[in-house]
Amino acid sequence: MGIRLLFGTTSKGKWSEASQALPSLEVLFPRDLGLEGEPIEDGATFAENARIKVHWYASASGERLVLAEDAGLVVDALGGAPGVYSSRYGQDDASRNLRLLEELEKVPAEKRTATFVSLFALWVGPATTLLWEARTTGFILDAPKGEGGFGYDPLFFHTGLGKSFAQASIPEKASVSHRGKNLDSLKRWLKGWRHPTRPYRP
Ligand code: IMP
Repeated sequence: MGIRLLFGTTSKGKWSEASQALPSLEVLFPRDLGLEGEPIEDGATFAENARIKVHWYASASGERLVLAEDAGLVVDALGGAPGVYSSRYGQDDASRNLRLLEELEKVPAEKRTATFVSLFALWVGPATTLLWEARTTGFILDAPKGEGGFGYDPLFFHTGLGKSFAQASIPEKASVSHRGKNLDSLKRWLKGWRHPTRPYRP
């Protein structure tokens, strides 16, 4: 029997990246289980929010293995903003990106450094939640580039790739990204995990 994992997220971008990175797993998303509603992300850190999300999805679903992620963009010239507030920086991706450009309007190229942070929380039953953190650094462009990806991808230029995340394919982005690194850690951990044959029911 293959491993069944619920990824508690409503982000289509995250769905695509996780599905491509975990082809040997049965990856489910909240809507596959008819789950309605979303957790309230009121933690002060990425780790707190990742825990809040994973506990919410675990108790709403009764699944045995549940993953959640809290991610965000930390911009040095903005004192770390938007950080944990990345999803609340504007109403949608377009307005969040516009606000970021406006806030950085007078900031020269060499000071536009930024880091994407990903916190994964894996719920493996009531007694255990594992956390992984990964980062990737780059800089914020002065205009969007590329049509792919999601969120702040069109404004995030990765020097190693030589392109923005929105110009990269999903595997290219995953090879250097915060989420790609955490997906690798998750895969390595799952290889050594002896999973139960019956789903957990609280
Ligand atoms: P959350 O983890 O779903 O709360 O996402 C936080 C915010 O950061 C959202 O606005 C996302 O669009 C953005 N974000 C998270 N990861 C990425 C990424 O890989 N690329 C671009 N934006 C991201």
